[in-house]
Amino acid sequence: MCRHAAWLGAPRTLASLIHEPPYGLLVQSYAPRRQRHGLINADGYGMGWYDPARPEPVRYRRSVPMWTDANLAALAEVARSTCLLAAVRSATVGMPVEESATAPFADGAWLLSHNGRVDRDAVKDLADGAESTCDSAWLAAAVFQRGRAGAELGEALADVVVRAGEKDPAARLNLLACDGASLVATVWGDTLFHQRHHDGVLVASEPLDDSPGWRAVPDRALLTVSGEDVTIQPL
Ligand code: GLN
Repeated sequence: MCRHAAWLGAPRTLASLIHEPPYGLLVQSYAPRRQRHGLINADGYGMGWYDPARPEPVRYRRSVPMWTDANLAALAEVARSTCLLAAVRSATVGMPVEESATAPFADGAWLLSHNGRVDRDAVKDLADGAESTCDSAWLAAAVFQRGRAGAELGEALADVVVRAGEKDPAARLNLLACDGASLVATVWGDTLFHQRHHDGVLVASEPLDDSPGWRAVPDRALLTVSGEDVTIQPL
């Protein structure tokens, strides 16, 4: 995924990541400001959020450009949660354009998005199988496999990113994941920012607006947001 964003805090709608900010994901789908690789993000989009009515998050993925989905605005205006994740995709050359290759990938309560690329041979050893042949789907499967074996979200992300990065030194491995109670992100080759609010924290590949307080997360780092705590550790 080429641009992703998430919120953890007081309930907000998905429109707060997509339509409301001047540089939300809708604008980032056709005019990103900080994108280092690719020009637009027209190969699909997805979003996930948590609702007390079900144990697993709700997920909505499409393989069309975000701006072509006339039903999205109303859905995003009412889909509300304390934990939100959304992404727009610019498919890497050779990767399939299909819903199953589109973030967020999901397993149980976990949602995951990938901004970057990795040689699939570098990740195929890290997982038993993936829902799509897309490199991001393999990364997600490797993270989920570690979660099922008992790893915490941050531990699973860090292990997969470090191992994949060793095998493919040219890999870009910005992952963003959540479990409903925490947000975790890696920075490995692309941009990532976070912004504290009085009632929560925003995390995004690039700032959603020009308000003060957006801070860049350094490269090769793991960002963890849990409650009001934000920690950054080197990878
Ligand atoms: N490699 C992933 C894909 O093809 C992510 C692409 C990206 O971040 N631009 O979907």
